[in-house]
Amino acid sequence: MAKQGNIRISSENMMPIIKKWLYSDKDIFLREIVANAVDAITKFKKLADLGEAAADDQEYNVKIAIDKEAGTLTVEDNGIGMTEEEVEKYITQIAFSGAADFLEKYEKAGGEGIIGHFGLGFYSAYMVSENIEIFTKSYRENAVGVHWESDGESTYTIEECDLANRGTRIVMHIAKDEKEFLEEGVIRSLIEKYCAFMPYPIYLNFTGKDDKALNDTQPLYLKAPKDCTEEEYKDFYRKTFHDYHDPLFWIHLNMDYPFRLKGILYFPKVKSKVELERGKVKLYCNQVFIADNIKEVIPEYLLLLNGVIDCPDIPLNVSRSFLQNDRQVQKISKHITKKVSDKLTGLYKTDREKFEACWNDISVFVKLGYIKDEDFYSRVKDCIIYKDLNGKYCTLAEFVNGETTPITKPVKENAEEEAAEKREDSEANHDEAKEPTTIYYISDEVGQAQYIHLFRESGLNAIICDTFIDPHFLSYLEFKESGKYRFLRIDADIDAALKEGTTDAETNKALTEAFRASLNNTTISVKAEMLKSTEIPAIINVSEMSRRFGEMNAFYGLAGANADRDMTLIINTANPVIQAFMGLEDEKKKFVANQVYYLAMLSYKKLSPEEMKAFSDNSVTLLREWIR
Ligand code: ADP
Repeated sequence: MAKQGNIRISSENMMPIIKKWLYSDKDIFLREIVANAVDAITKFKKLADLGEAAADDQEYNVKIAIDKEAGTLTVEDNGIGMTEEEVEKYITQIAFSGAADFLEKYEKAGGEGIIGHFGLGFYSAYMVSENIEIFTKSYRENAVGVHWESDGESTYTIEECDLANRGTRIVMHIAKDEKEFLEEGVIRSLIEKYCAFMPYPIYLNFTGKDDKALNDTQPLYLKAPKDCTEEEYKDFYRKTFHDYHDPLFWIHLNMDYPFRLKGILYFPKVKSKVELERGKVKLYCNQVFIADNIKEVIPEYLLLLNGVIDCPDIPLNVSRSFLQNDRQVQKISKHITKKVSDKLTGLYKTDREKFEACWNDISVFVKLGYIKDEDFYSRVKDCIIYKDLNGKYCTLAEFVNGETTPITKPVKENAEEEAAEKREDSEANHDEAKEPTTIYYISDEVGQAQYIHLFRESGLNAIICDTFIDPHFLSYLEFKESGKYRFLRIDADIDAALKEGTTDAETNKALTEAFRASLNNTTISVKAEMLKSTEIPAIINVSEMSRRFGEMNAFYGLAGANADRDMTLIINTANPVIQAFMGLEDEKKKFVANQVYYLAMLSYKKLSPEEMKAFSDNSVTLLREWIR
């Protein structure tokens, strides 16, 4: 006769709340049930190793079976099993009260996600089951089988039954609207996600012939780093992240004290320069998958990497905000940061060639870390490198110290600023004001080709900063290295080195006025300069400050994203067209001025649709003249 009983904790109201909250995450029930099975095996194994239980030659394993017809999903282990008293105690009382505790914690956390959802355990299977049966037999001598059954609401039955073997079988009668959990593909992918590294073989629909476990019971990260080969690291990467590109390099984390931390972080090859590609850092606790990309444990920029981290010491049954402030978690996070920066600086120092070869792929990561994490910043700041116009990599120090052709002369943007700086200097009573070194940079090799050409012709150099993060990065660097460097985009001004002497001020004034009066664009400033290059009639400059301001506004979607209000057309008095300009009759002046302007704007990539049309009309006119 089966005994009946009431579940002591009032669980009637529990299920709807748990179901609602976990709705999107109810997959975890399988992890909980399989993790219990694994624990039960580990417990038995320990007893057997101690000689306190009779070992046999069975393989320790977990078998998962789907029976679509019966509508059941079964998880079976050959672990420690439970006696009737144990089922009463651990399942009827503890598992249910565990769920009640969980709810209480959840409410205390203000409804915020409880990170590992741990503590819900066995009960979580009710998220997908309308009824659950347990068949279990303890490892103890003379133990008898036990059959327990409950709908999870308020009553249960328990009775003896005949069972041949030690272990536990959990039979979940899947609820009508959760039928997807009877699909092999769904279960398979849940096992892959949550149980990939669990320590005993897991079989799905075991047949007894040629069955292959779905999990890797000895994941590489558990091995001592000295015993791992390069091929093993790459293999593990491919299998775990389904990336067919080899990783660039990796860091094997392996420590036991003061906390336990094992794992491998991989630096992937990047596919895009224009956006952040999120990697995946999977967090495990004793080989049980907890979650992807937990930014409370792993600094956010590190989430650009791919990796596996197993950390049994993280308190996983707490809320995310608690984790963020947990000292242990902060230590772990700091340790990971240190390991990553050590790897980078180590590579920079010992294998600069490889470091340079990888730079393209890691620069966004390093720069983001530099901006986001003070600690990381101070560790890696001296190994940030830049490609120059000759395609050579250099640090800023190398660039400035003449390993390439540097520009060391400070450039002032305008007189007002200069005056303000002077005031500041005298207030601070400096003997010798140290002015920032100006470094020119390129953000678009094709778009700024005209300027690059000018630079090359004049023997000037610049660095290439063309990823989406560079504008933020350069501003940040100026700020952090206060006053040491100043970055100007290559089209922000005309450096003295590009000029060839000066021309008469009066002549220039007349020329610029006549030129401006001939332009259709009435807002642009015009300035005359004699450049070393005679080829280029004119070029656009936009002051660095106003362009950055515009870019920032664009980034935040604010008004004022138009950066063109500080635009200057620099006309080159060394160019024959400009030299001939004053001698032209008015109509030709108009034609030439606008065409010169269009050409310059074209190089700056800023022609409006109307201007583009006018430019091609003018060009056709020129062609007609030329063939006449
Ligand atoms: P937790 O695993 O967090 O302790 P659960 O609710 O998942 O909580 O399980 C409650 C208890 O039931 C376990 O601690 C264990 O003693 C027992 N138990 C659950 N599943 C099994 C199993 N497959 N074999 C043996 N004992 C089990």
